[in-house]
Amino acid sequence: MNRKPKPTVLIVGAGFGGLTAARRIARLPVQVTVLDRKNHHTFQPLLYQVATAGLSPGEIAAPIRSILRAYSNVEVLLEEVVDFKLDQKKVITKEQALDYDFLIVASGATHAYFGHPEWAPLAPGLKTIEDALEIRRRVLLAFELAERQAAEARHSGPPLQFVVIGAGPTGVELAGTLAEIAHHAMNREFRHIDPRQSRILLIEGSPRVLAAYSQELSRKAEIQLQRLGVEVRTSHAVTHIEPGAVWIGDQKIPASVVLWAAGVAASPLGRQLRVPLDRAGRVLVQPDLSLPGYPQVFVIGDLAALNDENGKMLPGVAQVAIQQGDWVAEMIARDLENQPRRTFHYHDKGSLATIGRAAAVAQFGKFEMSGYFAWLAWLFIHILFLIGFRNRLLVMIQWAASYITYERGARLITGSDELASWIEHSCLEKKSSASQHGATPTSSGQLESTPASVPPSPPQPV
Ligand SMILES: Cc1cc2nc3c(=O)[nH]c(=O)nc-3n(C[C@H](O)[C@H](O)[C@H](O)COP(=O)(O)OP(=O)(O)OC[C@H]3O[C@@H](n4cnc5c(N)ncnc54)[C@H](O)[C@@H]3O)c2cc1C
Repeated sequence: MNRKPKPTVLIVGAGFGGLTAARRIARLPVQVTVLDRKNHHTFQPLLYQVATAGLSPGEIAAPIRSILRAYSNVEVLLEEVVDFKLDQKKVITKEQALDYDFLIVASGATHAYFGHPEWAPLAPGLKTIEDALEIRRRVLLAFELAERQAAEARHSGPPLQFVVIGAGPTGVELAGTLAEIAHHAMNREFRHIDPRQSRILLIEGSPRVLAAYSQELSRKAEIQLQRLGVEVRTSHAVTHIEPGAVWIGDQKIPASVVLWAAGVAASPLGRQLRVPLDRAGRVLVQPDLSLPGYPQVFVIGDLAALNDENGKMLPGVAQVAIQQGDWVAEMIARDLENQPRRTFHYHDKGSLATIGRAAAVAQFGKFEMSGYFAWLAWLFIHILFLIGFRNRLLVMIQWAASYITYERGARLITGSDELASWIEHSCLEKKSSASQHGATPTSSGQLESTPASVPPSPPQPV
């Protein structure tokens, strides 16, 4: 007797959306294949902890294969998807072409440098474990190089300057935690420099930090940042980045390390679907999250563009991706039972942003809170959602220890010990003593000048 083969569901991306969909769809009479170019799922909300040496990569990431091992009808393939042939129901990877009955594309988002891809190597963004390790390397290396240089020169140079561009949730948490590291964690460990003199500058093009939150919470977030020692400059658009410096119009800001937290664009894979996209490259999906003309193809999470009932674009947050992952599983179940599709509705459970030690803001509908209790809520929710009991336990222990001691346990410099921006920084002393090119050292050791050779680019929103 010939058994009818089970329908095949291909899921591209094992982030929050793809994983949720895989777990739910695994309960249906289907065969599921999960494709991801990485072998691990990353808990992105805690990436900044890896970037700032608070946690190790293994504590915020888990192998996709082990997360899905309990589902015998789910297979996991380490594959990078490069194209789609929707009319032939095929997904093209670097290695092969795969057929599907249902396709879910959940390949997330990437950094956007507002038409300046050349800024990427100078100002890394934070999206993957690799990004976090690169940021950690640059931050820790800057302290080491300053110490070595001061030891050679027998006096310390100008204070280190860390510049974070973009004051959304990622920029705010990076800046706040950098301030903690410089002003507390590194204290008493260096003999030739005083890390507490380091300056952390958070630059934002719009008038306020955490613009997605209420005016009042933005104001409170800025106060908490300042308390942690972060200098906040809102309504300042970065116009140019070069090794060792950031430009705001004709003002040059020397920077040992520059971090990018200003722009997000959809995964480039969206373009390969050859359907209408919005300006950020997100795929314009139907109310049931399928593609116009291709009801068997769904796009979810950061890659999907969909408005809520009030016409407001759904935010690129984990909750949206998780709820959409659940939703497409339900739509596939309905298709298998010949039931009609329904419209997706997002249930906003609130948003939280951490700023640093005992500092956070939270908004749950009309209810708002900030400070210690918001931070506790943030901590609790993030531990709860971390994948794996072992990770939850480890992270809880690490946080408890670092709360008491200020210690950052993962302060390892891995990879190259070169910092491109450092060449410029070490020239700073010579430049500032000679006051060349019309540059004027400020009281803080910061140079502000109009360059002869580098014409600032037109202002870009940050
Ligand atoms: C630093 C940071 C902090 C954040 N903090 C918060 C927070 O506090 N709260 C919150 O709600 N949200 C937060 N977010 C946003 C949240 O992480 C995203 O909204 C969520 O991850 C989106 O889920 P997704 O499934 O759409 O994509 P992702 O989780 O990004 O997963 C995409 C997956 O697709 C894979 N992939 C991409 N391209 C390909 C390809 N060509 N072939 C195969 N696989 C591919 C990737 O490897 C990845 O595994 C944060 C994001 C970042 C970067």
